[in-house]
Amino acid sequence: MRFSSYHDLRRKLLDRETTCEAVVGDYLERIRDNADMNVYISVFSDTALERARELDQKLDAGGQPGRLFGLPMGIKDNIAVEGAPLTCASRILSGYTSVYNATAIDRLLAEDAVFLGKINMDEFAMGSSNENSFFGAVANPHDNTRVPGGSSGGSAAAVAADLAMVALGSDTGGSVRQPAGFCNTVGLKPTYGRISRYGLVAFGSSFDQIGILSRDCDDAALVLGVMAGFDSADATSSHHPVGDYGSEMDAVSVKGLRIGVPGEYFPETLNSEVAAMVTGRLEALRDMGAELHEITLPQSDYAIAAYYILTTAEASSNLARFDGARYGYRSPEAEDLSSMYVNSRTEGFGAEVKRRIMLGTYVLSAGYYDTYYKKAQQVRRVFLDSYKKALAKVDVIAGPTSPYPPFGLGDKTGNPLDMYLADVFTVPASIAGIPALSVPAGFDSSGLPVGLQLAGDFFSEGRLLGVARHIQGTL
Ligand code: GLN
Repeated sequence: MRFSSYHDLRRKLLDRETTCEAVVGDYLERIRDNADMNVYISVFSDTALERARELDQKLDAGGQPGRLFGLPMGIKDNIAVEGAPLTCASRILSGYTSVYNATAIDRLLAEDAVFLGKINMDEFAMGSSNENSFFGAVANPHDNTRVPGGSSGGSAAAVAADLAMVALGSDTGGSVRQPAGFCNTVGLKPTYGRISRYGLVAFGSSFDQIGILSRDCDDAALVLGVMAGFDSADATSSHHPVGDYGSEMDAVSVKGLRIGVPGEYFPETLNSEVAAMVTGRLEALRDMGAELHEITLPQSDYAIAAYYILTTAEASSNLARFDGARYGYRSPEAEDLSSMYVNSRTEGFGAEVKRRIMLGTYVLSAGYYDTYYKKAQQVRRVFLDSYKKALAKVDVIAGPTSPYPPFGLGDKTGNPLDMYLADVFTVPASIAGIPALSVPAGFDSSGLPVGLQLAGDFFSEGRLLGVARHIQGTL
């Protein structure tokens, strides 16, 4: 049995048209049948079925079903699930098993979600194509010669291929939105601090957010409502009250909605079909009564430079803990403490992770700190101010999620800078910490998915999802 979304599945579960055990069994079978897609790093074959049976028993015994009762989910492998391997798609964490649950995971479990397994990703969430995984690349379900995007490429592919109904990803500079766009799913990066980062392995701590990949906006809203909220284990999580996202979505009316369209998001180099399709969606909203306002985000050209200075600085510090002593992989070649560190890190990290650690330590070094790191922090402030200015005049900001449709496997692996530029449209919202999402805008003439990105003011997730639902409705 296939289901259009969680809402459909939930109704059938509660009406006893099917059982959690049957549904989870189907998902596990599909995951096995599609093992060549390389979406999962570990599959919870036994524990998922066990949990499904427990949920069925709970319902039979007259228990109250949780808000996510029987929702089959996949979890990006940089989020801690107690007792399960946690690899971050890196050799350096091979053999490591998580000893606790991330707060988001605890909250999902408390509402009766079921976890199918841990999902492939770029190593330590560094990448835009999922090709930086120690476990190998993931194919795009819409064209298996192309990438699914990254770093949450496995999570987007899982939802697109129905190997999970909803998947968790993480977004530091676009890692939920860009793969969502490449795989024709919804991908939401909430406001920084909206969801606790406790149990999310840190990459760029002042950017990282757990995000949601789903088929539609209602499922994303539901899962967000469960995970969001203050957590005493994460000092950067927000006390801002959690919205009733369902009603916030319902309250969004297209009539009079002010959509800001930044000229910088439609450069001449933009793929022409992407430009036409995104514009087409926005014009469809205008025909329904929305107002399109040309706006400017003049600092956009500096986004990639500022992002790669700030996040590599944070990454170089965050990844210092992987030293061969505390977690996972230890080189057998070591003769003394120092060579144990060096060899474990040399053999344990992939090329992109090493590149970023080197870049990060360089921009933080005494001689260059002011020139690079401090400057980039100042640029960060400029981004925030310019978004504030723009968002005083418009309700949401819209543009393409990515400058082009999914590219071919191997196309950009030889040119890191070109790979970094894949995130040119997603990085700015991460620099400012505001929420943003990608919603499907249709398929181009080659049948490849194109995503439309919406960004808005802090904690406006409900409104963004409401606007995105209208966009999905125009397709
Ligand atoms: N592709 C970007 C990077 O490589 C974004 C990654 C992310 O959001 N985790 O840093």
